Amino acid sequence: MMNKVTVLGSLNVDTILKVQRLPKPGETLQIISKQNAGGGKGANQGIAAARSNAQTSFIGKIGKDENGKMMCEVLRSAGIDITNVTTASSGTGQAFILLQKNGENSILVYGGANQELTAADVQKAKNKIVNSDFLVTQFETPLECAIEGFKIAKNAGVATILNPAPAKKIPTELMQNVDLITPNETEAELLTGIKVIDEKTQCLAAEKLLEFGAKNVIITLGSKGAFYQTKNERGFVPALRVDAVDTTAAGDTFLGVLSSQLDKDFSNIKEAIKFANKASALAVQKLGAIPSIPSYKEIKRSL
Ligand code: ADP
Repeated sequence: MMNKVTVLGSLNVDTILKVQRLPKPGETLQIISKQNAGGGKGANQGIAAARSNAQTSFIGKIGKDENGKMMCEVLRSAGIDITNVTTASSGTGQAFILLQKNGENSILVYGGANQELTAADVQKAKNKIVNSDFLVTQFETPLECAIEGFKIAKNAGVATILNPAPAKKIPTELMQNVDLITPNETEAELLTGIKVIDEKTQCLAAEKLLEFGAKNVIITLGSKGAFYQTKNERGFVPALRVDAVDTTAAGDTFLGVLSSQLDKDFSNIKEAIKFANKASALAVQKLGAIPSIPSYKEIKRSL
């Protein structure tokens, strides 16, 4: 049986600007190349879930503009239910990614319509949430949306996954309804104050997140892999060794694919992480967010 996944989150158009280096204050530099691609943590995670065969629906907001139309088309063509993607007066969210020759990227984000999503919008999508196996969200839409969504989900026995990115202080009201939290190393440090550098600090940070109220924890460790801690087990699953060209959306691919494979009681967490690691290893070998997210077949083929 396929998982039913609802993603509550951001929709952005990414403009990737390839540059030799960053301009200094007052300096004008030529852009080497310019390319648009679908993105936003919410959209990336939704597409990753859908391409891994989860029956996926989306709760979000776009502007009444061409970028909004583009994002709807991107979601629809992946088979995602967009009944609860509504329009706002601001423009569709947009990220400007300055990708330097040395591979480093610097990102400027315009939240736009994403910031206009409200708890009332989430309430209107109640039917979708209660009929899901998992509700997934991040922090690129207002906190009140996550709080409302997770409340609805928990009352209906739906499992909740919080990707705390970009990291911010998480109120108890939300944390008490989190079944799985998935920070990367930087976010884990911001949330717990513990610098995650080795097995011992991974355990300490995870313990702290459990103390805060999350039921299960996965800390993604970039090219190293992922650490997990549940009530019954803890472990580490190494990443695949690949030549990364663009790590944008590695974490989003990981999470979306994970939500398509997890059992609701998290009993297959290790197997699900193995599969998600493979998906992200494929994603980092391609440029862009959404264009780089692999399908179930591609992940299977790489096994
Ligand atoms: P985020 O993109 O949120 O910062 P991470 O960098 O921790 O997240 O990456 C998420 C997952 O993507 C990792 O757990 C790993 O499976 C995979 N991954 C990331 N970078 C690489 C890489 N260079 N090589 C192989 N896998 C990678």
